[in-house]
Amino acid sequence: MMATNGEEACGVKDDMSAVSSNGRSEVLAKSHSAVNGAATDASSQNGAAVRPQRFTFSSEPTVEDIRRMQAEFTDERDWNQFHQPRNLLLAMVGEVGEVAELFQWRGEVADGLPDWTESEREQLAHELSDVLIYLVELAEKCRVDLPQAVLRKMALNRLKYPASKVHGSAKKYTEYKD
Ligand SMILES: [Mg+2]
Repeated sequence: MMATNGEEACGVKDDMSAVSSNGRSEVLAKSHSAVNGAATDASSQNGAAVRPQRFTFSSEPTVEDIRRMQAEFTDERDWNQFHQPRNLLLAMVGEVGEVAELFQWRGEVADGLPDWTESEREQLAHELSDVLIYLVELAEKCRVDLPQAVLRKMALNRLKYPASKVHGSAKKYTEYKD
């Protein structure tokens, strides 16, 4: 069945080329280097262990940029008719499965994916992007202002897990005592 089955029909697989054709290839190139430029472990001159430099993202595209680019992509293909919330949710879960497939049977994987090939890293970047694109579109269709919702949720998380109580512990919040 067209356009409701398969990620290509749903509008994610081709997003890179579509976005590039809209003149945003430089944004994607920047994002791409951010995805693949995993933080390297820092070591001091005298060999003493120091905290690894934390990986950071590029500042663009913003979540709103991603929403707009995907909206343009689906509008150009008249695919909005297929992109109802439930369909988007199922598509996103499918993409999460594709991410899981890349980690399947590998055992534990270290930060920075030191044993992964460039091709495997790029495949992961693609699948994580698919998840994010569908997540953003799902939030849009559900009228959830995702960046602001994240701020509210992180404030709740800080209340639920006060650093003073939970530092270094993986217990669920219901297991902590006041
Ligand atoms: Mg995919």
